[in-house]
Amino acid sequence: MKADPRAARLSDAALAGPARPRDRRSIRRTNLAVVLRILRDGGPRSRAQIAADTGLPKPTVTSLVAELVALGLVREGPAQREGAVGRPGTLVHLDGRDICGVGVEISTSSVHVLALGLGGATVFGHRTAAAVADMTADAVLDLTARSVRTCLTALERDGVRPVGITLAVPGVIDADTGTVEYAPALGWRGLRILAGLRDRLERPVPPLTVGNDAKLGAVAEYVHAQGAGVQDMICITGERGVGAGIITDGRLLLGSTGFAGEVGHMPLDPERRPCVCGRTGCWETMVGLDAIFRLAAADGDPVRDPGVELEERLAELRRRAESGHARTRQALDRVADDLALGIALLADVLNPQAVVLGGYFSHIGDLMLDRVREVVRARVMAPDAGGCEVALSTLGFRAAAQGGAHLALDAVYQDPGAV
Ligand SMILES: [Zn+2]
Repeated sequence: MKADPRAARLSDAALAGPARPRDRRSIRRTNLAVVLRILRDGGPRSRAQIAADTGLPKPTVTSLVAELVALGLVREGPAQREGAVGRPGTLVHLDGRDICGVGVEISTSSVHVLALGLGGATVFGHRTAAAVADMTADAVLDLTARSVRTCLTALERDGVRPVGITLAVPGVIDADTGTVEYAPALGWRGLRILAGLRDRLERPVPPLTVGNDAKLGAVAEYVHAQGAGVQDMICITGERGVGAGIITDGRLLLGSTGFAGEVGHMPLDPERRPCVCGRTGCWETMVGLDAIFRLAAADGDPVRDPGVELEERLAELRRRAESGHARTRQALDRVADDLALGIALLADVLNPQAVVLGGYFSHIGDLMLDRVREVVRARVMAPDAGGCEVALSTLGFRAAAQGGAHLALDAVYQDPGAV
């Protein structure tokens, strides 16, 4: 069976995985990338150690390191050797201080631009609150272009070169044509978003790509979880909509037409509330932001006012829950039960090591987590939920932008000489 080239590209690009040579067309290019990825994954090390890690001859490693130094991607520095005698060894460190990757998340409530350096440090970050779901697509593109221009100007001033920009959008994406096929939460269909943004930027820009927000959030969570060696995980993003990025055996699952992970529209609600997708009873009508606010507060309550910053509204919910406010606590319990119902279903089907809850769950999910875990354990068929750990994201609302920046930077890890 022929592999979907789009799937191969996104999963390889997003999740290049541990370093191992495989591009036989250019051994040198591959070897540069392997050395760089070893430094990313394993931290600073000596040239001798790199030779041992890669199986490459020492003179080859020396020449590869020299090329990476010339590219500004690594630097050599003395090793810290406490109490050791003799000449300190030299370690090769990841550098890349002059380059960054840019992620731009367009959500229903904001446009968030984030630039990360090669080692993952934040170089630029700015979030503009806006009622995106109520704006026209043109107005959203204008706002996005303004945000990106501000970022590019700041990077230029600081002498940092962006190697790529990835947009994250809550919808189904055709990455090849740069089109948002369908984004129900924003009311978009067939929007040629990359062309629209490129026209507005009116300046040379680095390569632009677009991806689904939940999938890019999963990329960020996966990169973040690498210390723990997690290869099978489901990352659920709770915003107005609910989506998932599914990583199985270290690869991002896209499905045959890219719709894999549209978990927010699983029909789970017997009350069959209408959903933005035009159907009724979707999971996101039970556990999305609108659901928690609707259950926790009456009409006209400030926590239901979209004009108030989302973080503030969530902080107010937390204050109420912690002071024992009955309606708030009942709302949290209800959403916890409904959340667990969907998680258990996904765990039965995919048997992940971890389910990571992001978006608004990373703000108030701790108030629901014990109950979610209990219900998941009770409902999943496999003993002890198949070892599935339900955890809260520590990345929160920045995960999608962060995943976009990682994806942009991955071009460097794929082919260091090209950027
Ligand atoms: Zn739906």
